[in-house]
Amino acid sequence: MLDSFHEECGVVGVYGHPEAANLVYLSLYALQHRGQESAGIVSADGQVLLSHRGMGLVADIFKEDIIRRLEGFSAIGHNRYSTSGSTLLKNAQPFCVDYVGGAVALSHNGNLTNYVELRRRLESDGRIFQSGTDSEVILHLIAMSKAERLVDRVVAALGEVQGAYSLVFLSESEMIAARDPYGFRPLVVGRLRGQERPGEGWVVASETCALDLVDAEYLREVEPGEVIEFTAAGMKSYRPFAPHAPTRCVFEYVYFARPDSRVYGRSVYQVRKELGRRLAQSHPVEADIVIPVPDSGVPAAVGYAEQSGLPFEMGLIRNHYVGRTFIEPQDSIRHFGVKVKLNAQREVLEGKRVVVVDDSIVRGTTSRKIVTMVRNAGALEVHMRISSPPTTGPCFYGVDTPTRKELIASSHSIDEIRAFIGADTLGYLSERGLYSFLGEGPRGGFCDACFTGRYPVLVSDDEQPIQLHLFEAKDR
Ligand code: 5GP
Ligand code: SF4
Ligand code: MG
Repeated sequence: MLDSFHEECGVVGVYGHPEAANLVYLSLYALQHRGQESAGIVSADGQVLLSHRGMGLVADIFKEDIIRRLEGFSAIGHNRYSTSGSTLLKNAQPFCVDYVGGAVALSHNGNLTNYVELRRRLESDGRIFQSGTDSEVILHLIAMSKAERLVDRVVAALGEVQGAYSLVFLSESEMIAARDPYGFRPLVVGRLRGQERPGEGWVVASETCALDLVDAEYLREVEPGEVIEFTAAGMKSYRPFAPHAPTRCVFEYVYFARPDSRVYGRSVYQVRKELGRRLAQSHPVEADIVIPVPDSGVPAAVGYAEQSGLPFEMGLIRNHYVGRTFIEPQDSIRHFGVKVKLNAQREVLEGKRVVVVDDSIVRGTTSRKIVTMVRNAGALEVHMRISSPPTTGPCFYGVDTPTRKELIASSHSIDEIRAFIGADTLGYLSERGLYSFLGEGPRGGFCDACFTGRYPVLVSDDEQPIQLHLFEAKDR
């Protein structure tokens, strides 16, 4: 069953530390926002790989005795989020397999766009798959390579896959990190402070907030198209793939990454704040206060308030303890919905003209409830401001967005969306606003396909004709 397609994930690896699994555990904690469905750690003690994976949050899956069993001087980890159809332990990573060259484990963030094609080819050759995810084909391709060294097998495998990948591999004695030539998903390298011997103290992670937690120094990004090998001899960089104009996911800045991370070399918080400032410049409004939709809208609201000179207030308060176990009320008490997560403060909102800032509108259903809630708390006017362009298309590169049909901006004008959510006015940051400070050239070296429909890599997935149709209709 090809049951998993879209998934967003956090990956991490630690090479050369006696408590590698513990450090990976902490790093996964820092990256929990990148995936809450399942998590796993694989460690290497020089002889064998040891693995533990489970469903749910990092804190629920790993207990002290489990971490203690994950012995060794290196370990990799993974947090996974995916759409509901594939909520299965078999899809949890890291994947760990034995092959003719030894044992290897892998953590993958991203989506391979030629997955279906590759999997069909491998299955018709008699290969058996354990999971429904695209990541597993990489392990098959590694096992099939005739190369001696793992790093050469990895390069051979990656030469056949297309699309988005930030990867960490672990064998009994080495760790390898790789990022696709487009640089779709982030990946950084750091070093544990005080570790100076060549084979010690290396950390790779999706975001720098993981480095901060384990007290590792940020060194640099894994470059697009780069493969890095960590061995007892230290870190060695390979550039096996021709450089490609980068198409780094701009949505990491808009929503996905943690604001305290550095992504693509910039502070996510500062970028979001600047997006808010640009939004205030392009969509000013006469109002009394600026409030964010917490947490995602906070940095942009700070920027909007700063630029507009309006006071920043917390008109909506978030309950941080709403987890996946929350039971949605049925029928008669159904419409509590968003109130469980957010509560509007009458003391702040009553009699005010309010600017509400959020990072994006996806389906529009949450935004609609928020506008109603703010009005019910006594706001005179509600002006919705969004710190990114309208989300008009799905992501094929590793972010879990709903299908095109479900995205309100794919079929509605801005004024229709305004009417649907019930706001007095609605303003989105323009494409130009997005790139006015982010980078050189029209796209700044970013992928923005979910906003613009310009998909940098085609999906060769004949099970998804709607997606194919989408590509045909777009200029590239
Ligand atoms: P909507 O009004 O579309 O129902 O919800 C908008 C909210 O969804 C915004 O607060 C935005 O931060 C959030 N959001 C945007 N993209 C994503 C995503 O990929 N995953 C999740 N869980 N929330 C998202
Ligand atoms: Fe990021 Fe959107 Fe491109 Fe996906 S389509 S990689 S979410 S910018
Ligand atoms: Mg949000």
